[in-house]
Amino acid sequence: MKVITQREKRKTLLLKIVSKNEILIKAPLRLSDSKINEFILSKQKWVDGKIKKMEALEEFAGGFNFEKYIYKFTEIVMETKNISLDYDSLSASKKNLAIKKQYIEMFDILKERAISLAEQFNFKVNQISYLSSIYKWGSYNDKGEMKLNYKLIILPKELIDYVIIHELCHSKHMNHKPQFWKEVEKYCPNYKTLRKNMKNFSFILKTDF
Ligand SMILES: [Zn+2]
Repeated sequence: MKVITQREKRKTLLLKIVSKNEILIKAPLRLSDSKINEFILSKQKWVDGKIKKMEALEEFAGGFNFEKYIYKFTEIVMETKNISLDYDSLSASKKNLAIKKQYIEMFDILKERAISLAEQFNFKVNQISYLSSIYKWGSYNDKGEMKLNYKLIILPKELIDYVIIHELCHSKHMNHKPQFWKEVEKYCPNYKTLRKNMKNFSFILKTDF
């Protein structure tokens, strides 16, 4: 594991997982090296856990390049005992906004996919727009309006399709009763597995960006 230490004018220690083989430490100018090493050692378990999760997701997504997306979700600011907390929340929220903007710019990709699936399977959809939510991946109402969470863009393709088909099937059944799932199964025979796999990505849904 490569450790890059950046000294700067700050009051907290920050540990960021840059990739599977690299972590970045941002440390106050005058904090001793031994304190920094102590901090890294104390977070070793946490880092290992996150990297395992990254690897699992990567494998699951069939080589999809998650690293550049995932490091963002694993960033954490740690507080040392002898210095006070000074979390630069403003820059964090600004960064989140930039990422959100970028994903929304890519929304057309999701929209096009939804239109093409609707045409292919003969579903009615009047309007497709993006959804900004930490609770739902998508929605469909009785006016034929479908919403898709813009965060879907970083999910594996088969899961994006599952969510779109799920919402399209609500045009026939506005509930989650057995008939609804029968309809989903027509277009997604492995929907049960896909539904389970969606849970691996709930941390993306819950991340506010
Ligand atoms: Zn549903």
